Amino acid sequence: MKMVKCRHCKKQIAKQDAYKVEYLTKSLDVRYKYYCSEECEKKQIKQREDKRRLKEIEKLARQTTREILELYSDKNIYFSKMYKDLRDTFGDQIIYEYINENKHAIESVLKSKDFETTHSKIKYFFAMAQNNIEKYKLLNVKQNTYKSSVTSFDDFEIIEINKKDKKRSIDDILNNL
Ligand SMILES: [Zn+2]
Repeated sequence: MKMVKCRHCKKQIAKQDAYKVEYLTKSLDVRYKYYCSEECEKKQIKQREDKRRLKEIEKLARQTTREILELYSDKNIYFSKMYKDLRDTFGDQIIYEYINENKHAIESVLKSKDFETTHSKIKYFFAMAQNNIEKYKLLNVKQNTYKSSVTSFDDFEIIEINKKDKKRSIDDILNNL
């Protein structure tokens, strides 16, 4: 009995029992992909879609964050480092939601401050984001219907956050760049 391997779960199945899907090769030949079941093929499709969606979310979140900070080059290594740190802490999905829901509020806070350098603006933004996304996360976990604007931005102070964040302060991050 000829056996084939399921494209998704890698289980060995008899070729005659396999669920098969036609596909075209680059040279336009018709070939088959084998699956142990139709469900398994659907799982694979869903996994790919989820992956694509996550990538898109990651791209959009980063892009919007750049827009907010008026960074039109992707070569700012300070931004890259800080953004990576934010992703490591929260993941793309929540950053994406927070940034999109609060874009205008964040922009007006940034506009109201007088930053001497782009660097200090980025620093301020990320300290604020770390603080506010944490709150955003808690509120969204506790009450699914939470909709209003996230936190009072005016109460925000970088110094306080650094004190609370014993793990790693912004200056530590900077020294390790
Ligand atoms: Zn399978």
